[in-house]
Amino acid sequence: MSASFADWVSTADAVRATPKKLEKHAALARYLGALDDPDLVIAARLLAGAPFPRRDERVLSVGWSALSDVLLERSGKSGSDMAESYQRYADLGDVAADLISESPRTGEPLSLADVAETFDRIAAARGVAPKRELLRALVARANADEARYLVKIVSGETRIGLREGLLEDAIARAFGREREEVGRAHMLTGDIGDTALRARHGTHGEPTLAHFSPIGVMLATPVLQLEEVGRRFPPPYVVEDKYDGIRAQVHKAGDRVELYSRTMDRITHRYPELVGPLLGVPGSYVIDGEILAFYEGRAVPFTDFQTRLGRKSVADELRTKMPASLVAFDLLERDGRGLLDRPLAERSDALREIPFAPPVVFPEHRRLAESGTDLVAALEREFAASRERGNEGLMVKDPRSPYRPGRRGMEWLKVKRALRTIDVVVTGVEWGHGKRRGVLSDYTFAVRDGERLLNIGKAYSGLTDKEIAEMTKYFQEHTVRDYGRFRTVTPDTVIEVAFDQIQPSDRHESGYALRFPRIVRLRPDKPVSEIDTLDEVRRIAGR
Ligand code: AMP
Repeated sequence: MSASFADWVSTADAVRATPKKLEKHAALARYLGALDDPDLVIAARLLAGAPFPRRDERVLSVGWSALSDVLLERSGKSGSDMAESYQRYADLGDVAADLISESPRTGEPLSLADVAETFDRIAAARGVAPKRELLRALVARANADEARYLVKIVSGETRIGLREGLLEDAIARAFGREREEVGRAHMLTGDIGDTALRARHGTHGEPTLAHFSPIGVMLATPVLQLEEVGRRFPPPYVVEDKYDGIRAQVHKAGDRVELYSRTMDRITHRYPELVGPLLGVPGSYVIDGEILAFYEGRAVPFTDFQTRLGRKSVADELRTKMPASLVAFDLLERDGRGLLDRPLAERSDALREIPFAPPVVFPEHRRLAESGTDLVAALEREFAASRERGNEGLMVKDPRSPYRPGRRGMEWLKVKRALRTIDVVVTGVEWGHGKRRGVLSDYTFAVRDGERLLNIGKAYSGLTDKEIAEMTKYFQEHTVRDYGRFRTVTPDTVIEVAFDQIQPSDRHESGYALRFPRIVRLRPDKPVSEIDTLDEVRRIAGR
């Protein structure tokens, strides 16, 4: 026989009554440990404060008016009594307990199974009347304390849900398991009830990703200076374009496919054009990716694309004008095989074996084995190339890393400076310091204003050591005037310089200065007559 709901209520009360974590754990562990399997599942789910587990998409859909009808009938009180009580408690659950405190319940006391079964039936019922009838029968059998929790769960108004971490702790403690493992099983199953059951039977290490139960996405740590990348982890580096779109987790199994947002909401209906291509691949998979639009091979800026967001269904016209693509960059599951613990290198190899066709594509993806200044130079080039393709910047990932759902770590780095570049000409060079001693590594550069060249900044080179050595030789041979540390040179070396901002400044003769200038690359393909002009600089600064 199923355990009484009254015991669940007193446990929930006891947990709420104490501020001490250890006492909360102990009360929960004692309670959960004594339940049989089916009750354990129900009790744990209800403690999380919702009628159904997270992975379950069912909803009760009992409106406020049905709820208040039931409470008025059960208590025999009037609408104004209810309004007054609500004034005092501001919570429908507490109002329920207040209103019915004097009217005894009827019928058999509720068991956990009764509660769970009624929730199942309410979710399945169509229309207001049958739902209200089921709720009425449930509340009739509840006393005031029980009604408080039932109403809180049904209304979803106040979260009585215990923090997930607290429940996971209690479950680990009840069944003598590792806290981390229980948390992981919960993350993967999306069901605290199933997690509790697995913890009891020692199968909590087994679950693979459940289809159609989205998990948290792995997050990246921002990197402001490219030099920082090399300090985070050693080579090799997986470098991908950072697409400026909408994160999506795709689950496919059988003839069903769903897309979930990073907040785990189902967003499939917004991208109908992706469904067919995603379903076209045989077998099951869970992928992580980014939804965005491409126009003539270039990414469309997020702001243009996002007009599609928030709409329930997308007009055909909008879809044909700006059809969505999915850039699939990670694989979490394939044909029943969980890949979260496998290194990124293996996951992305497996990903690329999936026969996706446009509009499902793979990201720009390269491996860099460089380190030190070579790495910085290579990243600068990759960054500029990514921007050239209309993307936001770079993601730099550790090929050895597992997929860590919901975590922000150093294994994924994002380089997303609001980077712009201008093409300028080198007018002066300076001997470097430290490691750059003996080479001309600091460049002063200018933009064009009619026939004149006006200096706008100075930056130390982001070029490779080899390039710097070659340029040193070149500048020595093309020196106009040598001042010792600094020398002016023939203005014919065009370079591309990245920066975060242009500001008015009297430091340079152009009247502007670049914030965080960095030399991206040499532009031997560009004549000086085609470098950026002072007008262009004014325009950028003016925005
Ligand atoms: P941010 O939103 O600025 O924190 O940057 C991280 C986001 O970049 C992720 O959540 C993804 O939505 C997005 N993103 C774009 N391209 C990639 C990629 N190749 N790998 C991982 N995330 C990416």
